[in-house]
Amino acid sequence: MKRTHILFLLMTVMLSACNSTKKYTSYADYPVYDGNDLELTYSQQATSFRVWSPTATEVKVMLYDNGNEGGAYKSLDMKRSENGTWTLKVDENLKGKFYTFQVRIGEKWLDETPGIWVKATGVNGKRAAIIDFSETNPSGWENDVRPPLKNFTDISLYEVHVRDFSMASNSGIKNKGKFLAFTEHGTKNTYGETTGIDHLKELGISHVHLLPVFDYASVDETRPADNKYNWGYDPLNYNVPEGSYSTDPYNPVTRIREFKQMVQSLHKSGIRVIMDVVYNHTSKGKGSHLDLLAPNYFYRQNVDSTWSNASGCGNETASERGMMRKFMIESVVYWATEYHVDGFRFDLMGIHDIETMNAIRAALDKIDPTIFMYGEGWTASASPLAEEKRAVKKNAKQLENIAVFSDDIRDALKGSWMHQDKPGFVSGVDSLEESIKFGIVGSTQHDSIDYKKPIYSKAPYVNDPTQIINYVSCHDDMCLVDKLKESKPANATEIELVKFNKLAQTVVFTSQGIPFIYAGEELYRNKKGIHNTYQSPDSINRIDWNSKDSHKDINNYYKGLIALRKEHSAFRLPTEEMVQQHLKFINTKIPNVVAYLLTNHVNNDVWKDILVIFNGNRRPVTVQIPQDEWNLVCHDGQINLSGLAVINYTLFNVAPSSASILYTK
Ligand code: CA
Repeated sequence: MKRTHILFLLMTVMLSACNSTKKYTSYADYPVYDGNDLELTYSQQATSFRVWSPTATEVKVMLYDNGNEGGAYKSLDMKRSENGTWTLKVDENLKGKFYTFQVRIGEKWLDETPGIWVKATGVNGKRAAIIDFSETNPSGWENDVRPPLKNFTDISLYEVHVRDFSMASNSGIKNKGKFLAFTEHGTKNTYGETTGIDHLKELGISHVHLLPVFDYASVDETRPADNKYNWGYDPLNYNVPEGSYSTDPYNPVTRIREFKQMVQSLHKSGIRVIMDVVYNHTSKGKGSHLDLLAPNYFYRQNVDSTWSNASGCGNETASERGMMRKFMIESVVYWATEYHVDGFRFDLMGIHDIETMNAIRAALDKIDPTIFMYGEGWTASASPLAEEKRAVKKNAKQLENIAVFSDDIRDALKGSWMHQDKPGFVSGVDSLEESIKFGIVGSTQHDSIDYKKPIYSKAPYVNDPTQIINYVSCHDDMCLVDKLKESKPANATEIELVKFNKLAQTVVFTSQGIPFIYAGEELYRNKKGIHNTYQSPDSINRIDWNSKDSHKDINNYYKGLIALRKEHSAFRLPTEEMVQQHLKFINTKIPNVVAYLLTNHVNNDVWKDILVIFNGNRRPVTVQIPQDEWNLVCHDGQINLSGLAVINYTLFNVAPSSASILYTK
């Protein structure tokens, strides 16, 4: 009751000064424009503008010769049109010009904005650019196709930041820190080993997941020599590529063409491309490019009308409102079609409402149902939108073909993300067995799991393994090497830390669901113990490609894990039912040991039965295994798919802090 009253008061105050503006008693009353011509429609003959600003008293288009400097050469009034929009048509060829919108609310002219639907900008994203999109396509773009993909469980994700990938002097890559780094083949480190895209191909991952590559605010694109680093979770223009990753941020065509060249190159190497999208908040709230068109509308408010902050970044967007929902759907569809992007990772997805997420899924299904969607099923802070409406982990069963990250398996394996000194299963902590088992079945329902025991969730939360991302580390928090070091048992050796590392990723890559690694983990990367490197220098964040030489053993092991998963469909079961019928846990009665069987050529695997044993103890254990002729392919930190040994006895010795994998023919 209180809320309605305050909102009504707010709207009345806001709108009372407007000459001929309708009064809206709630944001739900704002009109929704459902056309597809918002903001800019360009042709050689004419340029049409249509901007949504329902509470405006007056709206202008400012035209510029330059994307950054100088005043407007023309200011043109827009006319009020349907559903809160304003229009203007200019019968000239405006290619090469720049523009902004300026809105008057009551008596006050707000700052200029390039708009929300803006698809090309000048440097630093301040002014929108009028370009001919046919000039942004690299040669052969019309033949670019997504590499084949059958089930989402066939995916293996590699999360990488554009700068991290190439900035090191030993990357051998010319276009350091640029989209074009992903187009360079034949690059080598100091020791002549492959780096860059050739390394990714050799590693065998299926998807590259790029940290934010849309236009973000924190890096000044006019000062590349500063080499300023940021992860990019501070959105400025959602539908424009980040300028600092292009070779010429002043030319609006360059960043678009180079982004497409990156996608094209990865596709040619058989790798799909995923974008990290951050629709949950904007870099600044008040005065953002969204807010300057419809003040307050795109953001949620608390009952006292102050802005809420579920993102922890000062504002949170309101996906449940018609125009924000429309924008999110169209933005994702735009990247999937114009740029051929193959998947989307939603930052703090728990801020968005379920209905919007399912609407995005439905829109992508019309383009290609193999486009992958996943997100963080949580928020950073409390949101005023009711939890039952939000796309949080516990509501994942209501999300259709959208996956969520499993923090359950992550923290069971390595220990709490919050308490850096707390170790997990792989470092010898017992009582985490049920959490590990919960991870192995892909967070689905399985009769052998005691759901009271997993560390966070107390119930299965996804419909099928296609909906779960299994991982032990990502860009957030300490990377795996640092975390295992920080939390190591008092007398643990360097050699043991490597064992813990391999064991953790073996669980990730053999569990049902979708495995995910943070770039450089395969080269034993560290970040000097820093847990939040969002603006740390390249010296902390970049991949040191010479580690490929000093950590050959780790790199080979990770490659082996990826190959194991790729060649054996038993680890990629697409349905909960298949997991329930073919995944059988073995009770070894030994603490900190988890063992299971995948039976009877499940999912058409060439292997008949597969036995997987994880020993989290820092001592060897003897496990009673079924009598058969077993072929050992993974043991004591070694993987060899053509076989390490044949085992035809039943008392099997598992090495300390390691996994053993065996199969029958
Ligand atoms: Ca930028």
